[in-house]
Amino acid sequence: MEKRKVGFIGCGKMAQAMVNGMLQSSFMQREDIFASTKSMESAQMIMETFQIETTLDNKQVAGFADVLIIAVKPHLYGEVIQEVSSYVKKETILVTIAAGIDLAYIESKMSKEIKVIRSMPNTPSLVGEGMTVFCANDKVNENEIAFIKDLFASFGQVEMVDESLMDYIPAISGSSPAYVYMFIEALADGGVRSGIPRDKAYKLAAQAVLGAAQMVLETGKHPGILKDEVCTPGGATIEAITTLEQNHFRGTILAAMESCNQKNKDMQ
Ligand code: NAD
Repeated sequence: MEKRKVGFIGCGKMAQAMVNGMLQSSFMQREDIFASTKSMESAQMIMETFQIETTLDNKQVAGFADVLIIAVKPHLYGEVIQEVSSYVKKETILVTIAAGIDLAYIESKMSKEIKVIRSMPNTPSLVGEGMTVFCANDKVNENEIAFIKDLFASFGQVEMVDESLMDYIPAISGSSPAYVYMFIEALADGGVRSGIPRDKAYKLAAQAVLGAAQMVLETGKHPGILKDEVCTPGGATIEAITTLEQNHFRGTILAAMESCNQKNKDMQ
């Protein structure tokens, strides 16, 4: 596979997770990653943490990159694209990672000829367990799509979908690590309430979530069947399940995802 240079404009939580994942998996060499940040402090911190080159000049990164990842908050996309558009090389693939920024928006701000990938990663990319979902415009060829898949796969799992689904990806995998952390925190609090030391409680809760997720992915069994396998008739687990159902556990998650979808729609 041809070697490509990757640039990040903005290098906050999400970009750092991606950089770390790309380096840890050895998919990218440090000298092939360049990031621009807003302050000297963060430029210095990122350079020291990841030993990659950093700058305060977005245009330099735009000119360097074969794959240019715009990693600022969604409301800053317009101004950043305006600032760098004339510095982006003709063959560069521009990658968005923000909710609600669609392919047509980038084409309208840059040119119809620009190669664009719209993606939605998540922060577990930091530890190589990310989930990145993406779509591409018709200017990105098969080889380039293969490269982008490998790039995303270097820090986790990857799925390509039709753009019509992209608005709904933040609720299920972009934002959902936040809900899962709340679940782990609640499980741990429950353990602490029963006298389990806090550090052990976090370990037990997090490993239960990790193991359960792995069971879904590796056994291919329906989550309902896996749940049934834990519930002894007349036992304690089914009592816990009953309490969760009475308190709308699943309905609450569905409602939370709907609010996430709605907010993303409102921000467009
Ligand atoms: P963040 O605030 O941690 O990072 C954004 C960075 O951009 C900051 O470091 C900021 O200083 C920098 N920045 C701001 N203006 C800039 C400019 N003009 N030029 C260069 N740098 C600039 O935010 P984040 O959580 O990393 O989110 C970044 C993007 O990733 C957002 O669009 C968000 O929707 C998307 N995203 C985030 C997550 C997540 O879990 N955090 C998940 C999926 C997608």
